[in-house]
Amino acid sequence: MNQLYGERDRIRGQEKTLIWLQTEMGELFEAYLKNNMNVLEEEVADVFAWLCSVCNLFGIDLEKVAWEKYPSICPKCQKSPCECSLR
Ligand SMILES: [Zn+2]
Repeated sequence: MNQLYGERDRIRGQEKTLIWLQTEMGELFEAYLKNNMNVLEEEVADVFAWLCSVCNLFGIDLEKVAWEKYPSICPKCQKSPCECSLR
């Protein structure tokens, strides 16, 4: 994703890229509300792509931090599957 969009992301900047991620999250929820699975899949891909762009701009290794925080067990209850109360 960095190779594909990195230069454009750096020109756009952190704040505007975060706003785009927020916008895509809104579109994902809208697809859910319309119960449109095809659009939902597209929006999930868009959210992931923009999240990758945000991580690239902040120098965050998404895969590393995600696996560190969410290994094969829940970071709160230390169980798999998670046994925490629903929020
Ligand atoms: Zn848990």
